Amino acid sequence: MGERTKFVLDENEIPEQWYNIQADLPEPLAASLNPVTKKPLTPQDLAPLFPMELIKQEVSTERWIDIPDEVREIYKLWRPTTLFRAQRLEKALDTPAKIFYKYEGSSPPGSHKPNTAVAQAYYNKKEGIKRITTETGAGQWGSALAFAGACFGLEVKVYMVAVSYKQKPYRRIMMETWGARCVPSPSKDTRVGRDVLAKDPECPGSLGLAISEAVEDAVSREDTHYSLGSVLNHVLLHQTVIGLETKKLMEKADVYPDIIVGCVGGGSNFAGLFLPFVKDKIDGTKPDLRIISVESAAAPKMTKGPFVYDYGDTAKLTPIIKMYTLGHDFIPAPIHAGGLRYHGMSPIVSHLYNLGYIEAKATNQVATFEAGVTFARAEGIISAPETNHCIRVAIDEALKCRESGESKTILIGHSGHGLVDMAAYEKYLSGQLEDYEYPEEKIKESLGKLPEI
Ligand SMILES: *Cc1c(COP(=O)(O)O)cnc(C)c1O
Repeated sequence: MGERTKFVLDENEIPEQWYNIQADLPEPLAASLNPVTKKPLTPQDLAPLFPMELIKQEVSTERWIDIPDEVREIYKLWRPTTLFRAQRLEKALDTPAKIFYKYEGSSPPGSHKPNTAVAQAYYNKKEGIKRITTETGAGQWGSALAFAGACFGLEVKVYMVAVSYKQKPYRRIMMETWGARCVPSPSKDTRVGRDVLAKDPECPGSLGLAISEAVEDAVSREDTHYSLGSVLNHVLLHQTVIGLETKKLMEKADVYPDIIVGCVGGGSNFAGLFLPFVKDKIDGTKPDLRIISVESAAAPKMTKGPFVYDYGDTAKLTPIIKMYTLGHDFIPAPIHAGGLRYHGMSPIVSHLYNLGYIEAKATNQVATFEAGVTFARAEGIISAPETNHCIRVAIDEALKCRESGESKTILIGHSGHGLVDMAAYEKYLSGQLEDYEYPEEKIKESLGKLPEI
């Protein structure tokens, strides 16, 4: 037998608390603002949307927050997740680097997203809420929330970006199997949706627009709350189970990463992995640790956008938050199959990037699928198109090690499998997938509409 391939924890080692980075930030986050008054946000502003427990978590500076037993019970369906050593990929690349990946694709919907969906459904249920609305792009978040709704007997209504609704029926069918209702956005069910459809009946939709619809629906009904699958502080908090498990596993294996890479849409899976590690960089124990976020070149907010106050959605219903952004009505090209389309980046990830604790890279879709296919042929797992972004950068770093002869330890945040994304793989394999130019004009136009603060 060679070296170990899988590193696992026992069920009773699922973390009992989430880690809250807000206790250890070198400088506090900028306050989020009310979208109408532009004054600092109050808990009352958020009460129509979220349960009070999540609103408290959003601003908490307690280092550790207890995970309710009911949530840990459901986590047991797939957690703790496995840390893999990608030995076959190392061999295929002929690199002295040691490559590890923490695999979140073994959850029922196949990604990291139920780590927060289950927690959010639990707190809503506890507060007497009967129904939750949300938006979804490719459908991973909608399916995660549908699964969480089924766990707690909550009704779930999902506004799915129209172009994905048409192109990706299987995620919708997953949502319906778990009992949720899913409509294409823009829809006729909200005022925002009807307005857009009146102007452009063929509108492909965007995440920002779908958020507006889900928020409008939630605030118009007493029994309904809204749920967001990324970006917000409480979402990143719930995702820290990933990094906490990884840290424990790497300690047992007696290794520590030199480089951590993860893909970023709104930043939640990657933050969930790196936050328990960035703590060591902030306190000076691991000054050389490199943390690299990888975004899509189709929505390059970190590498090309400014760090400013912006709305989270197209209709300006969400709080104004300080983040790297391409502007709240930025819509990436519909030909883009790689995911990671959101216009903004979570405040926590934005802040740490601004302070220099993390790096940012953007990759184009053809190169990411090429990396995904290399990974699949070596490790077996067919990864989500989103995950392929950081696999690309991990492979590039491993190839640099081959040149330099260094044996660095590279840790990949593997956010999910791609088994519902085979149409995108088919496009790649048949040579139909294209890269496209950086949408400079579109971004300039969209950035012209930032709120004045
Ligand atoms: C949603 C999703 C992402 C991007 O969202 P983050 O909030 O940045 O994590 C990445 N990978 C997978 C598999 C996803 O489903």
